[in-house]
Amino acid sequence: MNKRELFLRHVAQTSPAPLGLEIVKASGTTLRDAAGKKYLDLIAGISVCNVGHRHPKVVKAIKKQLNDYMHLLVYGEMIETPQVQYAKWLTEHLPASLNSVYFTNSGAEATEGAMKLAKRVTNRTRIIAFNKSYHGSTQGALSVMGDEYWRNAFRPLLPDVLHLEYDSFESLQEINNQTACVIAETIQAERGVVAPSGEWMTALEQKCRETGTLLVLDEIQTGFGRTGSLWGFEQFKVVPDIVLMGKALGGGMPLGAFVADRKLMQVLTENPVLGHITTFGGHPVCCAAGLAAFKVLLKDGIMPEVADKGALFRELLQHPLIKTIRVNGLLIALEFDNFDINKKVIDGCLQQGLLTDWFLFAPECLRIAPPLTISAKEIKKAVKIMLSILDAIQAEAAPM
Ligand code: PLP
Repeated sequence: MNKRELFLRHVAQTSPAPLGLEIVKASGTTLRDAAGKKYLDLIAGISVCNVGHRHPKVVKAIKKQLNDYMHLLVYGEMIETPQVQYAKWLTEHLPASLNSVYFTNSGAEATEGAMKLAKRVTNRTRIIAFNKSYHGSTQGALSVMGDEYWRNAFRPLLPDVLHLEYDSFESLQEINNQTACVIAETIQAERGVVAPSGEWMTALEQKCRETGTLLVLDEIQTGFGRTGSLWGFEQFKVVPDIVLMGKALGGGMPLGAFVADRKLMQVLTENPVLGHITTFGGHPVCCAAGLAAFKVLLKDGIMPEVADKGALFRELLQHPLIKTIRVNGLLIALEFDNFDINKKVIDGCLQQGLLTDWFLFAPECLRIAPPLTISAKEIKKAVKIMLSILDAIQAEAAPM
């Protein structure tokens, strides 16, 4: 049996058409497959590899930590230096009220922890989420996912969850003194990169303050420089009560976190004690990797260039088949008329060595979210390939 057959037979499948590439080496912005073909990575493992694949400083930090220790004990018992240092660095780069970090294994688990924390802090049960939002795939996170197609088969889910229209002032009327928290993405990534208005974000924050509702902002995809600022919420000048992190947090290793004020986090220590438990959350090797990546991101002049790189994509990606392009730093959606066109572009890109994807709730949109280290030369090369594919699709569709 060849490797592809083994993959399909023994690795549990959730898609009828997995990409099925066998990558043997990844570094920077490039992936290489078993046949030696190179791919320019335009999706960064879905917004994970913000400082590129296997950044040398990240690899070095991992090796150093492997030489010291790996797993010691369940979360929160031992003083593990990589965890302590990373929590310190993160909180030094967050608003003062976000000063206590609970490390998890994944983004979904950060969502779970935040919802539990909000219930305990407020003594309320209602959770408000938004249509077309994605916060993870575990049952709690699925309960707040904003799409009935993906939720329905797994009912019953969490009770007392209300889904509202994102970026709608009318929705805010539903937030009241029975709401434990509102959970929202700072920019709705899987809807195809949809940003709310600044006024709405401000009004959302204000309504939460007025009603004693905790504002949970999901920065799992928008954090770590992806949209041009370290955190997406900085661009809206709001401060969440709880922020969710994941993806790029681990520098390519699995890591998530929910971050809040120490005074709020304190409730997880009593009635019951151990209010959130994880064996591996905040694994020392993952924290060492994440911290090294975070330092690279902050020090190597990567973030100041993100907006310009996004603007370059916008400027160059002009074609009659492109309906719209939504750009937030290097989180970009190219919208076509339908999925068929998008699929042709994605397949054509793959053939020509460009790795792209669509979005969960926006199959007609092509995802561009490369490592933030992508160069202007690579952007120009990628766009040239995409435009030639679009020309070919257009020519094929034109009447003879
Ligand atoms: N929140 C957002 C905005 C995400 O994009 C994702 C993953 O795609 C998650 C939460 C869930 O993270 P994970 O897949 O690590 O559970």
